Parts: sequence; C-alpha cells; structure tokens
Amino acid sequence: MKKATKVLTLALAMIMLAGVLTACGGGSKKGDTLTFGTNPEFPPFEFITSNGVIGEFDGIDMAIAKQIAEENGMTVAMESMEFDSLLVALQNGQIDAVIAGMTATDERRETVDFSTTYYTATQVMIVREDSDITKATDMADKKICVVQGYTGEVCVQEMGYSYEAFKKGTEAVLELVNGKCDVVVIDSATAQKYVGDNEGLKIVEDASAFESEEYAIAVQKGNTELLDKINASVEKMLSDGTINELAVKYTEEATAE
Ligand code: GLN
Repeated sequence: MKKATKVLTLALAMIMLAGVLTACGGGSKKGDTLTFGTNPEFPPFEFITSNGVIGEFDGIDMAIAKQIAEENGMTVAMESMEFDSLLVALQNGQIDAVIAGMTATDERRETVDFSTTYYTATQVMIVREDSDITKATDMADKKICVVQGYTGEVCVQEMGYSYEAFKKGTEAVLELVNGKCDVVVIDSATAQKYVGDNEGLKIVEDASAFESEEYAIAVQKGNTELLDKINASVEKMLSDGTINELAVKYTEEATAE
C-alpha cells in the first residue's frame, strides 16, 4: 500500500470510529429523559389544565415527578394513559416509571417495584347530603359506583357487594349527583375535590372498614438504579417539607375552585 493510501485508510477509519462514538453519544441522550406514565383523571394528584407544571399536566404528582427528574439532571416527560394500562406500559418499557396516586398493594408488588411512600390516603364514601349511609356496611343494599382498576373497586369486591365500575371518577360522581347510584367509593383527597366541585354531596369515612393506603412511584422490577434516584429525591422532598407544601397548595386550589 502506498503511503498516501495508508493515510487515507487511517483517516477513513478514524471518521468511521468518530461516527460510532457519535452514535453512542446520541444514544445516551435518550437516557437524559425520564418518562413517567400517569392517568390525569385524579385531582389533586394529576389533572389537565391550560398551564400545568409539565405542559398541560398539573397536580401534586406532576410537581414531584418534575423535581425528581431535575434533581437527577434529566428532562421530565409525561405520558397519559388509562389507569389500567400503566403497569403494562411500565413492564413493556414504554415508560420508565408510574406516578399516579398509585397505592403500593401486594398484588401490584408482584409485577413492579415501588418507591418510598410519599402520601398516605384511605378510601372514603361520597354520598348525597340526605343519605342514610354512615358506615361501610350500610352500602350492602345500595347502588355502589367505583372506578375501574382503582383500589376502591378491590375494597368493594372484597366486601362482597355488587357495584358498577366507571372509567373515570367524574363519571361515577355524575351518576351519584343524578341519583342513579347511592355511593361512590374512592380515595380521600380526590373525594374532597369532587365534593367541593358538586353541590349536595358529602364524605362518609369508616376507618374500621377501609385501611390506609400508601401512594408510591412504580418502576420495573429490579430497576434499582432508577429506584435509588427516585427514593433519594422523594426522601428529600418528604424531609424538607416540599411534598407537604404541594399537598396543601393543590388541596386548597381544589377546594377554592
Ligand atoms: N389509589 C388508587 C389506586 O391505586 C387510585 C389511583 C388513581 O386513580 N390514580 O388504585
């Protein structure tokens, strides 16, 4: 090989190597985005608004997700889907994590890993103001509405009562307002929001029937790298009062509307 050809071959090889390096560099760019999945039908945790913290997404969870990404030098992305599809999308790798006011249940723990708890809630009953329901067993002969796939549905199922399941909390509450059902079983903070939004409703609690539920962020089973980052941020936000402040802010906004 002539010297000139050798130089040319070497130069070509270097250009190709640079190309490979760039391709790798480009590949790691995707790692700079932290993609969460949510179902924005669960105020005050996630809802759609004209000017949210992540584009049109707003709520306690959305502010938490944004801060987790920022603290880890990543850009936050949010994908909206049905509540029932969230854990499947996580397992498929379509999203990196789920933040959706999701209760860390033993059943869900079989397929995903959960972060440190960031909020404690409970199921409550929303009824019309003139209702005679004062405890969970009073639901026995009543028409019960729940939201499909929520822990509220599981609770009512376990109590052995029949019920009707709706896709959205707002749909179930509309049935109640219209007198087509007698009680909606749903998470406490979301119930407060719906009672604030609709005339003539009230909340009935029954601590002996509904256990407390712990909201946590889900990641793929075994993704300890991401889980450690999420936990570090969540623990910081819990200890410095950020999550508490967010809960107060979004709950006040919800009841002021
Ligand atoms: N906490 C309930 C559950 O995990 C409802 C969550 C939600 O609707 N986003 O099923």
